Amino acid sequence: MSARFAALAPLAPLALALAACAPTAATPGSPTGLAAGQAEWPRQCGDEDDWDKPGPPFRIHGNAYYVGTCGIAAILVTGDQGHVLIDGGSHGGAPIIARNVETLGFRLSDIKLLLHSHEHFDHVAGLAELQRRSGARLLASERAAPVLASGKAATDDPQADGIDTFPAARVDGQVTPGEPVVLGNLSLMPVATPGHTPGALSWQWRSCDGPDCRSIVYSDSLSPISGDGYRFSDHPDVVAGFRSGLARLAALDCDILLTPHPAASHMRGRLAGGSLVDRSACANYAAGIEARLDKRLAEEAQ
Ligand SMILES: [Zn+2]
Repeated sequence: MSARFAALAPLAPLALALAACAPTAATPGSPTGLAAGQAEWPRQCGDEDDWDKPGPPFRIHGNAYYVGTCGIAAILVTGDQGHVLIDGGSHGGAPIIARNVETLGFRLSDIKLLLHSHEHFDHVAGLAELQRRSGARLLASERAAPVLASGKAATDDPQADGIDTFPAARVDGQVTPGEPVVLGNLSLMPVATPGHTPGALSWQWRSCDGPDCRSIVYSDSLSPISGDGYRFSDHPDVVAGFRSGLARLAALDCDILLTPHPAASHMRGRLAGGSLVDRSACANYAAGIEARLDKRLAEEAQ
């Protein structure tokens, strides 16, 4: 990250003006431009996807930044009335995320909204600390809200049996799928994608580098896994909701796919290859998850 950009980044209009004439994030191999951060991430993280291993922050596209660890994503979207942070990492992830935000030149106190993917400790345990440090409001889906407010998984969560608890956060408002979350010039669309957890959300928004606008999708994990004794086939309503979410995900306008576990969408390989853009990524990701769900149901039927 160049010092010039880091120094000016909190001033949104200036940052946007700079971004328009700075090297684009997709430019591979630039030694000092924003793409350097993209190239640095696979170098520093290597093959490890340790949840609490620090990785360098980088600009994804336009006003969207990766501020997570090597193993767990956290996404910062910056705007003229403050910033949005999606996910807060695991127990040890919050300080890493906070440092990454500041390394990019942004202030924690300018984060005004905290959002989530799914309500498991590896993605939301850090939200309480990030809320304390930033003062941001935390918005949650109807089903995730009591989980985030208590630190305990829902009893109907497929992994309820044995999953870790986490620090409770203060839930300040509710997210309704299909109704955009708006902050200043930012508008992020929540998409209901239950299945991995009851309250899981995916997010879609557009980020622009000058005239180069991309549709970014932060899709939930959606892994059809469970604790011992849980059978998806015992819950046809859960399976139906799971499939509906996958259909919504596959149909999204999607230039850049991001996932809470970066490895699930091959982020390392895409960064090493010099571009995160793949117009078919969301449809392919949804198809892959649906195949896993079908396989799981077939196994349960045996
Ligand atoms: Zn996870």
